[in-house]
Amino acid sequence: MNIAQSAFESLTTADARPTAIVIGTGFGGLAAAIRLGAKGYRVHMLEKLDAPGGRAYVYHQDGFTFDAGPTIVTAPFLLEELWQLCGKRFSDDVDLRPMDPFFRLRFDDGRIFDYCGDKQP
Ligand SMILES: Cc1cc2nc3c(=O)[nH]c(=O)nc-3n(C[C@H](O)[C@H](O)[C@H](O)COP(=O)(O)OP(=O)(O)OC[C@H]3O[C@@H](n4cnc5c(N)ncnc54)[C@H](O)[C@@H]3O)c2cc1C
Repeated sequence: MNIAQSAFESLTTADARPTAIVIGTGFGGLAAAIRLGAKGYRVHMLEKLDAPGGRAYVYHQDGFTFDAGPTIVTAPFLLEELWQLCGKRFSDDVDLRPMDPFFRLRFDDGRIFDYCGDKQP
């Protein structure tokens, strides 16, 4: 039985909560599922890959771990909001610290570019 079959079969339950199906377990799908769950929905998530994350998928090969995409948290308030919706505090689970510069790009000719947000570098 594949994941989709198992999710659909589990819809036939005595659970009276409304049911929502979220397709895709990227940040968008995960955030939608959390919001629906906080509103009282029984949420099923379907994912075509073997693990969640979408563009934030993590690949393992030859003993190395590759981060596929996002590394910079650009909107921490969105994460805080999700925790709040679940009656939790983000800062109790994640120690997020502002970086200065926000990020640094290094080019192969030695030049660097610092992004400092609104303030001047
Ligand atoms: C290289 C890179 C760097 C980035 N860096 C940052 C960063 O530093 N900070 C930041 O905030 N953002 C960053 N982003 C952007 C951020 O990663 C994306 O905006 C975000 O992850 C998108 O999430 P999503 O849920 O909308 O889509 P996706 O992550 O694309 O998720 C979609 C999911 O749906 C699944 N799916 C699709 N079709 C089906 C189907 N038919 N059935 C089942 N599953 C399906 C896919 O497999 C996937 O898991 C970066 C993106 C990239 C590519």
